[in-house]
Order: sequence, then structure tokens, then C-alpha cells
Amino acid sequence: MPQHQADTVFPIFVAVWVVLGLGSSAFFFLNKDAALKRRVWPGFTVVTGVVFLFFVWLMGAGAEVLLVGVPAVVLITALNLRAVRFCDSCGKTLMNQNPFSPPRFCSKCGAELKR
Ligand SMILES: [Zn+2]
Repeated sequence: MPQHQADTVFPIFVAVWVVLGLGSSAFFFLNKDAALKRRVWPGFTVVTGVVFLFFVWLMGAGAEVLLVGVPAVVLITALNLRAVRFCDSCGKTLMNQNPFSPPRFCSKCGAELKR
């Protein structure tokens, strides 16, 4: 793929990424409906990964980049799915810094978290 095509795609990629980031932040941090967020989160995470890979491919990434990029995105998606909890009591979105030991209690209201 010629370089000028990557130059055309990159600003679109950044714009889509900013909109996705702002939109999801607004939704997941302002919305207090834990059940709704729990339903939306897996789909959103997977779609974000697919969009990312799509743009990487559009920008002309070779097979060797995708060979590393696809498993990396799958891993990050899986970690994201584990790292985020939604509190049923107050509806807070809880981002976990350590995906290997998920939080058991809400940092805002202290309610026990169940998945
Ligand atoms: Zn809570």
C-alpha cells in the first residue's frame, strides 16, 4: 500500500478513536445502569478491537504486523473484559488495575461486586 494512503487513513483513524473514546467514557462513567452497561461492555470491547485492527490493516500493515497485532488485540480485549466491573448498588464503572485479581467490593459505595 502506498504511503499517501496511510496518510489519508491516519486522521480518520484518530477521529474515529477520539469519538469512540469520548462516547464510551461518557456512557460508561455517566450512565448508572449497571445491568445495561454489563450487556453493552463485551460487544463494545470486541468492536473496538476489530475497528483498531481494521484501521491498522487499512494503513498498510503487513502480514507480520497483523500476526503480532491480532493476538495482542485479542489478549487486550480479554483483559479489558476481566478488568471492568459494574456495581449493582450505585452503578459505578470500576476499572481494575490488576486484571488477575478483580476487585470484590465497589470503591465508591463498598457494596460486594458480583458478576
Ligand atoms: Zn457501588
